Parts: sequence; C-alpha cells; structure tokens
Amino acid sequence: MLGSKVENLFHVLDETTEILMQTCHLTYLEALVETAENLFQGEILQQVDDVAKKKIEKLYQSIKLDMLSSEEIRRAFQLVTLKGMRDYVQPHHQMTPDSIGILISGLLREFLINGKLKTFTLLDPAIGTGNLVATIQNQLSDYAIEAYGVEVDDVLLKLAYVQANLQAQSIQLYNQDALEPLFIDPVDIVVSDLPVGYYPRKEFASQYELNREEGHAFSHYLFIEQSLKHTKPGGLLFFVIPNHLFEGEDAPKLHAFLKEHAFIQGLIQLPLSMFKNERNAKNLFILKKKIEGETPPKKVFMAQMPKLTNKNSVQDILTQIRAWFRQENRNK
Ligand code: SAM
Repeated sequence: MLGSKVENLFHVLDETTEILMQTCHLTYLEALVETAENLFQGEILQQVDDVAKKKIEKLYQSIKLDMLSSEEIRRAFQLVTLKGMRDYVQPHHQMTPDSIGILISGLLREFLINGKLKTFTLLDPAIGTGNLVATIQNQLSDYAIEAYGVEVDDVLLKLAYVQANLQAQSIQLYNQDALEPLFIDPVDIVVSDLPVGYYPRKEFASQYELNREEGHAFSHYLFIEQSLKHTKPGGLLFFVIPNHLFEGEDAPKLHAFLKEHAFIQGLIQLPLSMFKNERNAKNLFILKKKIEGETPPKKVFMAQMPKLTNKNSVQDILTQIRAWFRQENRNK
C-alpha cells in the first residue's frame, strides 16, 4: 500500500510534470525539477499559457505539503523520478532504491551507536537524484547530519536539490566531476552507489594510485580512492559495488591499496532478484579508514540478503552485525 498522501503527491507531480514537459519542451526529468521548484517556491515560475497555468494551479491546490512527512515526500518523488528515468538514464546511473538506503541506515545506526556519535558529516560523491542520501537523512532524523553531495550530471543534481528543498533537508551540492579535486573537508561517513565503468579523463586519472598504466582507469576504483582521501581516519565508507569488483587482472592492485589505507569491515551480498541479471548484481562493501595503531577486525562481516523488500531480512542482517560487534569486542 502506497498510502493516499504519497499517491496524491505522486499524481500532482506526475501530471504537472507532463504539462510542463509539453508546454516548455522539456524532458520528463527536467520538467519534474521545474514543478518541484514551483511547489517549493509556492508559484509557477515558467512562462505558460492560461489554460496550462489554471490546470497546474488546481493540481497544486489539491495537496498540502505541510501535511506530509519528509519520508512521504521522498517516496512520492522516488516514484515520479523512477517514471522519468525509464527513458533517460544509462543502467549504471540509475537511482538507488530506498531498500538499500534503509539497509545502510540500519547498519550506520549500529556502527554509530558503537562510536557514540550523534552528529556526523556525510558525503556521497556520486549523489545522482539524491534518493540514497535522502533515505538516510529521513531514516536517521534523530542524528544531526551535515551532508555533502557531488554529481556531474546537472539534471540529476537539480533533482537532488529540489527534493532536498521539498523535504526540508539540508545538504551542500557540487555540480562537478567528483574525480577532479574536491573542495570538501574529510567527512565521518561516505555512502555511494558507485558509477561503474571507464574513466576517460587521463589528466585527472593520472593523479590516482589506482590509475591503470594502459587503457582507461576504472571510475569505480578511482571513486574508492577519492572517497578514502575525503574520509577522516576512523571514518566509515559504505559502497554499493558490482559483484565483479575483485575480479580481473587489476584486482590485486585494489586489494593492496585497500590493505594499506583501510580495514575491510564487511561485505553484504544484495539479493539477485534486485538486478536484471547476475552480471549486474551488486554488493554492499563496508570499509573503515585506517587509524594508525588500530588493529583490523579479526573477521570480516559477511552476509547474504535473500530479499531487501522484506523488513525481516534487514532485521536479520542487523542482528547478525550486532553479534559480529560483540565477537569483535571480545577479541580485543
Ligand atoms: N545514489 C544515487 C541516487 O540515489 O540517485 C545514484 C547513483 S548512480 C548509481 C551513479 C551516479 O554517478 C550517476 O548519477 C552518475 O551521473 C554519477 N557519476 C558518474 N561519473 C561521475 C563523476 N565522474 N563525477 C560525479 N558523478 C559521477
């Protein structure tokens, strides 16, 4: 069940997006940015004819945003974005489903409780539509989160911007290639659903240890290196990564790099049913940036999720990770 408030907002966003798409000659996602900005500003900011204006006004009047929670707004926004993404985005640039954000939030809570941290800085260097970060901000609304996001695609970044506004979530956004130098201080937590593929910009790739001698570097490798650079010692990194990350002839180099700079905390295999085929399947990879003098975990936390949509399977992973923490503390 969607809940009628979420459904109503979805319809208002969807229908006004369609109108703006036709009248302003925009793509669906561009028009979604426009209508969300209108809702936030409380006025129609585009030049539209009277008929379109009346229709849009009537639709806006049919919802009361202040009666919706941030999470209800996010869920409606996720649905419209998903609709717009059908014919827009490449497979590796898809929005991260909220089930993954909910899992990461649960894990973060476990890790943070252990660290007694109530306020933290968070960076997503490939923020896309902002859905992953927004899910975490809503799930962890009892924490003070100072969030940062970077995205190279300006339409996706605008989606992240308008949804943060509508949900009254604070975030600093940067429209740039995240593999260029970043003007963001090291953070406590990095979360990212990594873009997978080759990185063509050799002048920047050459600055990375994980660059490749021949051919193009892997952007997912460079993203891991860049993220570690922007994490405080002892900070945590949660990456959604392809299953094949540790395969291939470059994998030993990644292993050696990680051994030098991080402690691998865990690897959770996400359910195969979430992905179109096995080759596209992904894992959640958890790292901690090394602190000098600290010893690595005795055992890496490994788990497999049967289903993500099922609350019990998230709870089951959280129970397992609690047991892992207990064991690790005993071993210290
Ligand atoms: N978590 C995001 C969300 O919920 O919408 C989805 C992330 S998507 C899997 C990966 C993102 O990385 C895409 O939005 C893509 O445009 C972005 N990206 C790819 N290369 C990039 C680069 N060099 N710098 C910044 N962003 C990049």
